[in-house]
Amino acid sequence: MGTRDARARSISAGRMLLLGDELHPGVPQTAFLALYVVDTALRSSGIAGLTGPAVWSGRGVGAVLVVALTAAAWLLPWRLLPPWAVGALPVLDLAAIGLVRLDQVGAASTALLAAVPAVWLGRHAGRGGAAVVGLTTFLLVGLPPVLLLGSDGELLARMVLLPVVAAWAALVVAVGLERAGMAFAEMERQREELGRAMVSADHHRRIAAAILDTVDVGLVLLDGDGAYQTMNRRHLDFMHLAYPDGHAGRAGQLGLVFGPDGTTRLTREEMPTWRASRGEEFDDCRIWVGEDPATRRALSVSARAVHDQAGAFAGAALAYKDVTDFMLALRSKDDFVAAVSHELRTPLTSVVGYVDLLREEGWTSDAPAQLDVVARNADRLARLVSDLLESAKLEQGPMPVSREPADLAVVVRERLAAVAPSVAAAGLELDVDVPDSLPASVDVRRMGQVVDNLLSNAVKYTPTGGRVTLTLTETAEGAELAVADTGIGISALDLEQLFTRFYRAREAERRAIQGIGLGLSIVRAIVDGHGGRIEVESEPGRGSVFRVVLPAPEQAPEHAPQLRLV
Ligand code: ADP
Repeated sequence: MGTRDARARSISAGRMLLLGDELHPGVPQTAFLALYVVDTALRSSGIAGLTGPAVWSGRGVGAVLVVALTAAAWLLPWRLLPPWAVGALPVLDLAAIGLVRLDQVGAASTALLAAVPAVWLGRHAGRGGAAVVGLTTFLLVGLPPVLLLGSDGELLARMVLLPVVAAWAALVVAVGLERAGMAFAEMERQREELGRAMVSADHHRRIAAAILDTVDVGLVLLDGDGAYQTMNRRHLDFMHLAYPDGHAGRAGQLGLVFGPDGTTRLTREEMPTWRASRGEEFDDCRIWVGEDPATRRALSVSARAVHDQAGAFAGAALAYKDVTDFMLALRSKDDFVAAVSHELRTPLTSVVGYVDLLREEGWTSDAPAQLDVVARNADRLARLVSDLLESAKLEQGPMPVSREPADLAVVVRERLAAVAPSVAAAGLELDVDVPDSLPASVDVRRMGQVVDNLLSNAVKYTPTGGRVTLTLTETAEGAELAVADTGIGISALDLEQLFTRFYRAREAERRAIQGIGLGLSIVRAIVDGHGGRIEVESEPGRGSVFRVVLPAPEQAPEHAPQLRLV
């Protein structure tokens, strides 16, 4: 930019000197005066010698004229006068030369001075100026001596040659300047075009940068040697995750970059940038960047080679698409399929095993107990399948409940009786505090499901020797059912998602306790359907309390889903 400005400055300085309208008329006029003085001084010193008689002092008059012109050249307000007025100065300079020649015939050196006004006029008035020079030189310099002093051969020759040479010099200057002017104009045009092109290129660069930064895909450009040329803002986020300690800007740097399993670190040869820098093109290369499960991202990388005009490899462009949600969904689908398969297989194996035993051994004394196991596992299978169906229906909309006047105390007691054997089998104590009667308006089957689920969870998540307590109380609000246990408890982090479908707390997973994370989401849907709410209090390692609050019959709205975690 600086060089361009300097060049433009030197061009306009040259323009002022050679072509510019701003060259002050005083400058060439003073030059002419100086030459006139030198010519006069050298002649008076006798070096050149005077030729011809002094008829009258033409040189003196000429000198007065030149001095007057010089003064006028500096003093007149040229900007206010028409442009042709300047042309009067060189014309009158030619007249001064003519005066000298009348005085001193054969003053060849003085005739040479005609070059100054000739060039000046050529520069000032172009080709027209050259014509004026020819005519003026003929009329003022060549012709008068012939008319006044006689037509001697030399005077005749000068009368013809001087105007021609002077006009020719003026023409050369005029044409030269014309061409220079054209060349300069062309240069100016090209400079302006270049300026416009640069502004437009800069504009497009800014647009491209804005677009690159707007897209939700990380973009990287490598050169032919695998050096990073540029990357957009989105990719910077991925770089910070993959290289928390910084990046050297070369393809293939190892960092927190893992394969599709999220745990195996990529080797240099497996790194997408390394492969792309070797000219490889690929799509949907899946990687994980970062280590922290809360912030790490899964990326699908595509690469394309960039070639130069000769077709040689010149670099590569890589696009990194964030596919974290997709990968997590894939993983939960896999986890879900694995969990459901496991949950189905365990009771099925038991059913198949005992049925085989019964067929092989016939009706022995163990048969009733074996049939109990078969029935229990078949029941578990049926419950699992109905939970899955129930959960699928919940996707479509809220759980439909058909409330009817019922005694909640009776509903709870019936379910307790069904669950009590498994509580005892698990080596747990069961405390129950249920009133004789608690009239309510509930969906009896659904409320039975709520009691079943909460009790079976309490049993499942409480190690042997623990205690399960069930209380049903009538409150100012309506009815409150609480199931408390002294089991493994639930962490605050897990509490937030406890009622999400298929969500299982980490501790339950770690201990490999059976379950697929559907029961509580169904319980919540049922409670919501009754216009009630469910609350959980828990402390890891100490136990949990699940509290269901149902509004009194007359208060129960049709649907007022509410969930409060405490
Ligand atoms: P499942 O028991 O089949 O996993 P649920 O929806 O019934 O599914 O429960 C969701 C998760 O809540 C369970 O996986 C478990 O981690 C946690 N949970 C439920 N009840 C209890 C409880 N009484 N004590 C500890 N954790 C529990």
